[in-house]
Amino acid sequence: MKDLLLLTLFVSISFACSSLALAQPDASSARTSPTETEVLLHADAPGPEGRPTFGAAREEERERMVERQIARRGVSDEAVLAAMRSVPRHAFVPPDLHDRAYADSPLPIGHGQTISQPFIVAFMSETLQLAPGDRVLEIGTGSGYQAAILGAMGVEVVTIEIIRPLAEQAAALLDKLGYDNITAIHGDGYHGYQALAPYDAIIVTAAAQHVPPPLIEQLKPGQRMVIPVGRAGWTQNLLLVTKTEEGQTRTRNLMSVTFVPLTGEQRTGDRTGDRNSER
Ligand code: SAM
Repeated sequence: MKDLLLLTLFVSISFACSSLALAQPDASSARTSPTETEVLLHADAPGPEGRPTFGAAREEERERMVERQIARRGVSDEAVLAAMRSVPRHAFVPPDLHDRAYADSPLPIGHGQTISQPFIVAFMSETLQLAPGDRVLEIGTGSGYQAAILGAMGVEVVTIEIIRPLAEQAAALLDKLGYDNITAIHGDGYHGYQALAPYDAIIVTAAAQHVPPPLIEQLKPGQRMVIPVGRAGWTQNLLLVTKTEEGQTRTRNLMSVTFVPLTGEQRTGDRTGDRNSER
C-alpha cells in the first residue's frame, strides 16, 4: 500500500511538471545499420524552390477545412494555413475515401496505419516554428501528407517510414506531385537519419514510449521536436521537447492525442493501437 501511494505521488508530480528532463534509455544512433535504410526519393532542390504548385481541385473543401477545423481552433501561422489550403489531401488517401479527405478526422491508409487528422497536422507543423530553408526530420511518413505540408512551407524534409509499401507509395506520390525538397527513406526512424543531421526540427507522428535518444542527438541545440509519448492504445501526451544550447532537454505537454505506435527498435508486446481513433 505504501509502495502504491509513493508510485501515485511520483506519477502525479511527473504530470504536474511542465518542464523536465526526460530519462533516456541506453540506445545510440551508432546502432543504425545502413543496410536497413534505403533512400527512395532524394531532395534535389532543398528549400522553397523545391516546392510544387497545385491545381484547384477540391479547393473549396480545403478552404472550409482550414477555416472551420484549423484556424478556428487557434492555428494562425500563415505559412501553415497556406500549405493546408494548397496541398491536395485527397491525393494522399485511397480513392474510395476521396470524399472524406477533408473531414475532421484521421483516415485509414492501409497496413493498419492512418493519415492524421488535419488539425493535428497543422498544429504540429505550427509548433515547430519553421523558417524557409530549415531542415526537418519526420518519423512516420505514412501517406506522405505531413511531409507534403512541410515541403509546401518551403522547408527541406527528410521523412522515414518503416513499412516498405507505404514508404514506396509515399515517395512515388511526392515525386509525382513535383516535390524536390523531400527526401523519403525506408527504415526505422527510431534511429533518426544521421547522414543528414543535425536538424532544425523533428516531428514524430507515431506514439513513442520514450523520446528516442538518437533523435535528441540529431536535433540542433536551441531547436524543437514534437512527439507523442505514451502507451499505444491509450491517449498519449503530445510533447514539445526543446534542446537547450547546453544539450539538455526541456519538455512541455501540449495536449492529449491518440497515435498509432512507433514500432521498430522500441517495439514491445504493447502494439494494440485503437485503429478507429488513431491520428
Ligand atoms: N505522417 C503520416 C501522414 O501524414 O500520413 C501519418 C503517420 S501514421 C499516424 C504513423 C506512421 O508511422 C505509420 O505509417 C507507421 O508505419 C510509421 N512508423 C511506426 N513506427 C515507425 C518507425 N520506427 N520508423 C518509421 N516509421 C514508423
